[in-house]
Amino acid sequence: MILYTDSHAHLSSREMLPQIDAVMSRAKMAGVEHVVNICTDLETLAAGLEIAKKWPSIRNAGSTTPHEALEWGEEHFPYFEREARAGNLCAIGETGLDYHYERSPKEAQQRCLIRYLELAAECNLPLIFHCREAFGDLFKLVPPKCKAVLHCFTGDIEEAEECVNRGWMVSLSGIVTFKKSEKLRSVVKKIPLKQLLIETDSPFLAPQSRRGKMNEPAFLPETAACIAFERGLSIEELAHITKENAARFFAF
Ligand SMILES: [Zn+2]
Repeated sequence: MILYTDSHAHLSSREMLPQIDAVMSRAKMAGVEHVVNICTDLETLAAGLEIAKKWPSIRNAGSTTPHEALEWGEEHFPYFEREARAGNLCAIGETGLDYHYERSPKEAQQRCLIRYLELAAECNLPLIFHCREAFGDLFKLVPPKCKAVLHCFTGDIEEAEECVNRGWMVSLSGIVTFKKSEKLRSVVKKIPLKQLLIETDSPFLAPQSRRGKMNEPAFLPETAACIAFERGLSIEELAHITKENAARFFAF
């Protein structure tokens, strides 16, 4: 059986948590062995720590998102800090900058990001970045030697190259399978295999054949197949490479 790692899913979100048993059993049947669960607030953090006890293949990452930086950035930080220091997180994030929606003012997003950059450095943990239309500022704020993944990458070739040159991982979601994503598929060809991760970002962004449905880790193979095709690899090879990359990057 081909085994995969989903490097980014919101399993403890309000949408997915009520169905977690079914979601995890379908993930297992689809060969999705490890899942990095992204906790974004106190509720999803507490639930994430619980589900990781039941399914040891789930690893938690956490931070406030750029969207909620203003509302929850200050208040939630000590909770994520505590779990990071206790060794209960495999990464810090998703943090970063989102100037597309700009649900929090840019300055609040930057302040929140900087705090998490410091926490990650202190705890020696990798970072998971969310970035939309803010690459200039992200590259400015993040120190050069930072260990990070750019999750759900949808940027252009220059932005991909800058990530790659900084040694970051680049993670691709179901967006790569969308009919209109020709440009992103051409970027996929330029990312060194050693720096590639795959993710669902479930419950969001179901791949092409399931568009409109709630996404889940079991749909990861469709994204893997698309990337494998673009790279001229077998699905097995692509799954193996990205699984090894995730294990190395998140240290599991
Ligand atoms: Zn996410």
